Amino acid sequence: MSYNPPIGFVKKDIQLADNLKKLSLLKSYSKQAEGDFPLLLTPEFATRIDWNNPKDPLLQQILPTKHENKTKPGFVVDPLNESRYAKAPGYIKKYHGRAIMQLTGACPIHCRYCFRRHIKSNNIPKSINEWSQAVETIRQDKSIKEIIYSGGDPLMLNSDKLLEISNLLTTIPHIKRLRIHSRVPVASPKRITPDLIKALKDLPLVMSMVIHMNHPAEMDSGVKNTLQELVEAGIPLYNQSVLLKGINDDVTTLITLSETLIDARVTPYYLHLLDPVAGAAHFYVDEKKGRELLLKMRPMLPGYALPMLVVDIPGERSKLPIL
Ligand code: SF4
Repeated sequence: MSYNPPIGFVKKDIQLADNLKKLSLLKSYSKQAEGDFPLLLTPEFATRIDWNNPKDPLLQQILPTKHENKTKPGFVVDPLNESRYAKAPGYIKKYHGRAIMQLTGACPIHCRYCFRRHIKSNNIPKSINEWSQAVETIRQDKSIKEIIYSGGDPLMLNSDKLLEISNLLTTIPHIKRLRIHSRVPVASPKRITPDLIKALKDLPLVMSMVIHMNHPAEMDSGVKNTLQELVEAGIPLYNQSVLLKGINDDVTTLITLSETLIDARVTPYYLHLLDPVAGAAHFYVDEKKGRELLLKMRPMLPGYALPMLVVDIPGERSKLPIL
């Protein structure tokens, strides 16, 4: 099985090191904001950034800024109250019929608005033995039909381990479907090797993948090729975005994003209102503006290219559609 290191920001890469220097000169950059959620990005993601533009929509997604150091009432460490739904290490059950396995705490990039940015990954199992409690919990709950791999980013896990865990799931008769939520196809497309695609395709489970793209500039030919390979392997692709102030909160960007995704054979699926996580209040776009944007997008796109505007409310049995 071939899997492609390196991943993450490679400081010895001269061009990236130069860019990092530029970044530390940007007025909004804050070393303090990095805290225990440091600046992290992949070389591939870095090449799509215009490092001379402080407002670059990709740069804003990964740049630790002084805005993160401000507190705002209602913006908290665990905005979805996930700790309440953790039923075993690495296992979260909050919705009917499906359950989440957090395979790793690692990410290819650190998205500054991430709702899990403050969650510690110490509790995530590291070995197959440590996964046994979660797997047995799933085995006992026959209401669960679908497992969602989440993280961190599940495709940051070594592929042998990923497949070992997946094969365990295939021994549970009521598990029919496997959904992978990952930013890797966008942040580090080469990491998804033909071997990995084949192995996923061969699993006796109905596979799907939800990628995470917020702005059309995140797409390039490398990303598009990987998405195409996944689709051609019979793995349907969906996208979820977060509505982010100053990054994608305008009609033109959102329409271009939907068209870019459809042209890469990815169905736009959810547009999320930001989860109120501490340190990300400056990205928040309210429900009223979200509705206005969706209403303006609607006549401009075919129905299948229009994402659903949703919000995640702790305690609800699913994400709530707004429009
Ligand atoms: S959005 Fe995904 S890739 Fe980005 S920091 Fe959160 S878990 Fe990691």
